[in-house]
Amino acid sequence: MVLDFSKPVGDPMVEIGRLGLVEFCGKDRFESFEELQLEVKKLFNIYVFKTSGRIGQVFSSNSKFTHNSTGKDLNNRLKQALELYEELVQESYNGYCISCGKKDNLCSVSKTIFPLTTGNSNANFTSNFSNQFLMCKECMSSLFFAPINMQKTTGRMGFMISNNQEINEFWSEENIDEFNANIVKNNFDSIVDSKINIFENFIYNFMEELQEEELFGDITFYLISNVDKGSEVNVIHISENQMRFINKVAPKFFKTSLPTKAKDEWNYLIYKYSSTDNSGKFRTRKENINGKATVIKFNEDVIDNKNYKSTTRYFNPLISNFIQGKSILFFFKKNSCSWNLTTIYLKEIKGMREERLNVIKKVANNLQLFNDDDKTFYKKIVRPIEMTKSQTEFRENLRILMKKFLSKSDEALFSVDEMVLYILPSGESWYETKDILLIALYEKMSLKEEDIEKFNEGDEDE
Ligand SMILES: [Zn+2]
Repeated sequence: MVLDFSKPVGDPMVEIGRLGLVEFCGKDRFESFEELQLEVKKLFNIYVFKTSGRIGQVFSSNSKFTHNSTGKDLNNRLKQALELYEELVQESYNGYCISCGKKDNLCSVSKTIFPLTTGNSNANFTSNFSNQFLMCKECMSSLFFAPINMQKTTGRMGFMISNNQEINEFWSEENIDEFNANIVKNNFDSIVDSKINIFENFIYNFMEELQEEELFGDITFYLISNVDKGSEVNVIHISENQMRFINKVAPKFFKTSLPTKAKDEWNYLIYKYSSTDNSGKFRTRKENINGKATVIKFNEDVIDNKNYKSTTRYFNPLISNFIQGKSILFFFKKNSCSWNLTTIYLKEIKGMREERLNVIKKVANNLQLFNDDDKTFYKKIVRPIEMTKSQTEFRENLRILMKKFLSKSDEALFSVDEMVLYILPSGESWYETKDILLIALYEKMSLKEEDIEKFNEGDEDE
């Protein structure tokens, strides 16, 4: 009987296991169970060859797979685990596999035999997984390989599935390489440790890595736990647009990519928000060192040690908002970012039309007619725009500016069409237009960042 692991399956847990299996075994087809079993044996040998404290990372002591009743004797434990697997292989129920839909020759499994779960209430296996379910032999085998294709983060386990198979392969390769390296080093933690304990940063870090390979696609990231309590699954979806934006602005370590002004700006922002909090104090993080919770300071960890890779281990509101798909225009506005960086963001992420950006930019340029000196210009023109609190007020404000402009110029500040189609088109956020206009206006003024920050005080929270 041939076992085929070459096709993607519907359930994320099974899929991440399938990918891990293919990478671990170096192939996706097996001529017989005996052939696959050799690999399973290799894997189980690694899993059970641990002290129970460490197993806790992957297997709860309640897991049937590693239950205490199997005893402390490792040989015995391995023997029992393999027996358990063989029993499942021999079953032959009729029906459809819950994960891939394959018909008949199924095994009946309970959640508790698999790694990464403890009791029946654990939600790791998607909601359609009841306590006892039917599954084909390929999907069942795949699940045992899931842990080695995940990474520890936030005290839980993170993994991802993309619609681009190359991204999935990149992820698996990275994990299995690290996993194998750990075995060589006699480090028997089954799960690769990302050392990043903020889920959004963990995702951001991986997106940066993907840019080194120029890989793009939609990705869904999952965060799961191996305990019943609080075992809800967190899911964050990253769009290809977000990846294209990162590709344009983020990579900083790559030898092949030339620095650009937009990259400098973006990396400065990332650094700024990772290094210090709102009050300008260096951020801290907690790490368990030799069993002791230790507070580590950004300046000592990153700056003094020149350990820039550690930057993503600190909370960063900009990364958080970006990864969660929230607008980050506020950060651009607050930091007087360039029009260039802003348009990259608006075009890539918001899919904003070039014409709309051009019109808003033109309005900002036209308003320079009133700019004899920055301070007066700010007080008379910019501040009133900043202060607008509603679409009506904003529209009213633009009308006043229009009138003022006509008294000095033969041309209009903007045309009626431009107003209706580009400046305040129906269905689009007026607030966004306001922020974009302000960014364009700030760029024209040589006011310091602190000045703008002062202007914006109490304006809005991060
Ligand atoms: Zn299946």
